[in-house]
Amino acid sequence: MDRVPFFDLKRQHVDLRNELALAIEAVMQKSAFSGGEFVDVFEKEFAAYCGANYARGVGSGTAALHLALLALGVGPGDEVIVPSHTFIASAWGISYVGAKPVFVDCTPLTWEIDPTAVEAAVTEKTRAIIGVHLYGVPCDVRALQKIAEEHDLFLVEDCAQAHGALYRDTKVGTIGDIGCFSFYPSKNLGAVGEAGAVVTSDANVAEKVKMFRSHGEKEKYVHEMVGYNERLDGIQAAVLSVKLKHLDTWNTRKAEIVNKYRDGIRNPAVALQTIPEGVTPAYHLFVITTENRKAFVEHMRSLGIDTSMHYPTPCHLQKAYVSLGYTRGDFPHTEYVADHCVSLPLFPEMTEDEIGRVIEAVNLYAR
Ligand SMILES: *Cc1c(COP(=O)(O)O)cnc(C)c1O
Repeated sequence: MDRVPFFDLKRQHVDLRNELALAIEAVMQKSAFSGGEFVDVFEKEFAAYCGANYARGVGSGTAALHLALLALGVGPGDEVIVPSHTFIASAWGISYVGAKPVFVDCTPLTWEIDPTAVEAAVTEKTRAIIGVHLYGVPCDVRALQKIAEEHDLFLVEDCAQAHGALYRDTKVGTIGDIGCFSFYPSKNLGAVGEAGAVVTSDANVAEKVKMFRSHGEKEKYVHEMVGYNERLDGIQAAVLSVKLKHLDTWNTRKAEIVNKYRDGIRNPAVALQTIPEGVTPAYHLFVITTENRKAFVEHMRSLGIDTSMHYPTPCHLQKAYVSLGYTRGDFPHTEYVADHCVSLPLFPEMTEDEIGRVIEAVNLYAR
C-alpha cells in the first residue's frame, strides 16, 4: 500500500500546471521580475481579499515581520511580547530591529498565545505584541487588542499560517495594526519560492514598508533611510495571483478533512486542539498531543502514515535565545505541547481513502 504523505505539494502543481505556466510566461515576456506590475496586481488582490487598504509584497514572511516592526518604529531598548509556542521566525524580526523578545506561554487547551500571560508580561519598555494565529486557528486577537489599547502598544498579527481565517467576521491580519503573511511554498497560500506580504490599513505604515523593502527609496536613487532588498519577485506575485483564486476552496476542503478527523478520531490516548468560539480557522496543520509520542509516531509509520512535529523545541529553549536566560519550566503549557505534539497529514488534495486510513490508524493506537 502507498504511504500517506504528510504533505504533497506536487498534487496541487499537477492540477494548476497550465495556469501557472501561463502566468510565469507572462512575467518573462514583460521581464517584470522584481517588483513591477505583477506585484502591483497581486497586492491589490490580496489587500481586497483580506479587507485591508494596503498589501505590500516582500521577500518572505520573516521579512514581513521584520519590516513591520521597522515601519512601526520598534527598535533597541524596546520589548516585544511573542508566544514561545510558534515557529521561531515569529521572533526573528524583534531581534533584527534590536528589540528584545519577551516570550509568553500558550493556553493549555487552544495552544494559542495566552492573553493573561501577555498582560502580565507588559512592562514600561513594551512597545508591541505579536499575536500568532498558529496552525491557522485565530488566537484571541480581541483580547490582545484590548491590552494593546490599554497600554498604548502596537499589535502585529503573524498570519503566516492563517491566510483567510476569520475572527468573528473579520479576516485575520486586519485587526491589529499590521498583518504579516508568509507565502512559503507549503503555507495555505504558497509561492514557488520565497515570498511574503504585510497588510495594513494605515497609509503611513504601508509607505514605510514600501521604502524599507526597496533600499529606503522614496524615488529612484534617493535613499531616505538605510533600507533592505526585500521586494517580492514578479514570478512569485503572478503565481500567487493564480493560487489566490483557489485559496477559499483549499481552506474549505481542509476544514472538511479536519471535521472528518474530529468526528472520526476516538482515542483517549490522543488530545485535540480546542478551537475557540467564534472563529473560522484556515487550517494549516492538524496537531494532536499524546503522552508517548515516540510510540505513536512509530505506530503511525508502521501503518504507512507519515507525521511531523510543530514544534518540538519552544522558542524560549532555543540555543539562539540562551542569552535571554529562560529555562525549562518557564512556560509549562508550551513545553507540554512541544514535548507531546504530532502533526497528522493535512492538504486539500488528500483522497477519502487517505483520510480514512489516518483516522483508522489513530484509532488503532493503543497506549
Ligand atoms: C512560516 C512562518 C513564518 C516565516 O515565514 P517565511 O516565509 O518562511 O520567512 C513566520 N511565522 C510563522 C508562524 C510561520 O509559520
